[in-house]
Amino acid sequence: MSRSFAPYPFSPVVHPAVVPPLADGVERVRHPLAIVGAGPVGLTAAIGLALQGVRSVLIEADDGVCAGSRAICISRRSLEIAHRLGALDGFLQIGLPWTGGRSYYRDAEVLHFSMPADDNQKLPPMVNLAQYHIEEILLRRAESLAEFIDIRWQTRLTAIDTSRQDGVGLSLASPAGDYALHADWVVACDGGRSFIRESLGLKLEGASYEGRYVIVDILLDSTRPAERLAYFDPPCNPGSTVLVHKQPHGVWRIDYQLRDGEDPEEAVKPENVMPRVESLLAMMGEAGDWNPIWITIYKANALTMPDYRLGRVLFAGDAAHLVPIFGVRGANSGIDDADNLAWKLGHVVQGKAGQCLLDSYSAERVAAARENLFYGTKSTEFMAPPSFAFDLMRTAVLGLATRHAKLRSLINPRQTSPIAYVDSPLNGASDGFSAGPAPGSVLPECQVGDGFLTELLGNGFVALYFGEEIDAPTLPCAVRVLPRACDHTGRLYPMYGASEGSLYLVRPDGHVLARWHDACRADVNAALGHVLGESILS
Ligand SMILES: Cc1cc2nc3c(=O)[nH]c(=O)nc-3n(C[C@H](O)[C@H](O)[C@H](O)COP(=O)(O)OP(=O)(O)OC[C@H]3O[C@@H](n4cnc5c(N)ncnc54)[C@H](O)[C@@H]3O)c2cc1C
Repeated sequence: MSRSFAPYPFSPVVHPAVVPPLADGVERVRHPLAIVGAGPVGLTAAIGLALQGVRSVLIEADDGVCAGSRAICISRRSLEIAHRLGALDGFLQIGLPWTGGRSYYRDAEVLHFSMPADDNQKLPPMVNLAQYHIEEILLRRAESLAEFIDIRWQTRLTAIDTSRQDGVGLSLASPAGDYALHADWVVACDGGRSFIRESLGLKLEGASYEGRYVIVDILLDSTRPAERLAYFDPPCNPGSTVLVHKQPHGVWRIDYQLRDGEDPEEAVKPENVMPRVESLLAMMGEAGDWNPIWITIYKANALTMPDYRLGRVLFAGDAAHLVPIFGVRGANSGIDDADNLAWKLGHVVQGKAGQCLLDSYSAERVAAARENLFYGTKSTEFMAPPSFAFDLMRTAVLGLATRHAKLRSLINPRQTSPIAYVDSPLNGASDGFSAGPAPGSVLPECQVGDGFLTELLGNGFVALYFGEEIDAPTLPCAVRVLPRACDHTGRLYPMYGASEGSLYLVRPDGHVLARWHDACRADVNAALGHVLGESILS
């Protein structure tokens, strides 16, 4: 139920279907890894694995990046991942950074929130850019790694065979011909209606919401800054909730909630959408020319699979979980899945770790999905109250929020933020620290010398040593030495609860693995051995 009008200010390239050399209808080459779906999550996984030195075949039913806009808000955590993947520049060149927003109840401003954006941060808390830009940026990076990533456009997975112990069979259909291939491992990034999930009889668990939102992208001539605007029960659309976001190139996203009993088919008809947009823009004082680009309808789901691994098939992104869009956790959490999976699968495929490392992918990312669903559900229930009681509570909070500052936290949309794997089976020692990120946490950003801490990470394990010098060659991972002199703001050591000789061991995805005040080689080896399998390190 989507309609397009004026074209987006973006012309996607159409990629042809290609059939590889076959023997009896089966691709001659057996692949270590097949990734199904070249959306943001599949592309991120392919790039992450390529940087681990693993080749993949990336199978995509479409002929290019997505048409129509879906995700628009990309978080600082996703930008940090993009940085490690070598794709950050595109996000910063195109994306519109923003740091906060405003909520209105009827015609009064009830909340003005900001996200952390102090000078410890290299990156903005959020940038807005359309999903076709996100995919295009990732695609360009994937194409720069062409020796590792073989993209098969216009190629649809039509059957999957998981009956063999040593790999997975995939049947593929394309306009250039149908064929089969074999892969040792498969990553299912085939979106919310995942063919793989359905074919394997696996189920998403959780809740679906009744409330529906009309999503409208328009071209609007406006100088208003990028921020998140939320209007509850606005004079232009009484009884509804409306969200507004600025995107690059003069595109604006407007989401408004359908009222009870409104027919979704009717609601997306231009003759019904245009007057609502017109009256919203009039209420906002926007008098510039505008044109609709795209109209669609959205219904919130809060669902996850209970396990993201089935033997040699691993699920990521919307294929594994569906998170309500409020709080912008969909693509962002999928990118985090891919980042978590890439180093683990890379180690397993290359024989550097035991297969059980992949179970930690599922444990960590299912826990993350549950946290995302918790906050996404809270936001959804505030945006579109699911019952009379919720509605009553929301009306009371909104009505009182102008006078009672403490109530404003209940309106705060809590955008996505990094998730700590507090119960991860991989977490190691954390001896005697009174401050700093515990094992499982994402490394907090801080200025270091003339750069930033996250710039010191690579694609492998890193030891951050707080002190003047360390006998680095004795450690089995990259070492970054952080003498007091590099802490010119005086924040780094206290932020990490560090003293001379402290050591943080950081995973390839930027999560802390273990930390010590006085580590020796055996401590670091034991922590790595626990992750990779004792026998592999010895
Ligand atoms: C209106 C809207 C707004 C949103 N806003 C945000 C936001 O601001 N921030 C955010 O983080 N998230 C947002 N999201 C969510 C975000 O769009 C999704 O979470 C994200 O697209 C998931 O990426 P994915 O790669 O897992 O799946 P998809 O993007 O769905 O990609 C799946 C890919 O698999 C391919 N595929 C499917 N089946 C097959 C098959 N059988 N064979 C081969 N290929 C196949 C598809 O063609 C597609 O390219 C929004 C979603 C919507 C609808």
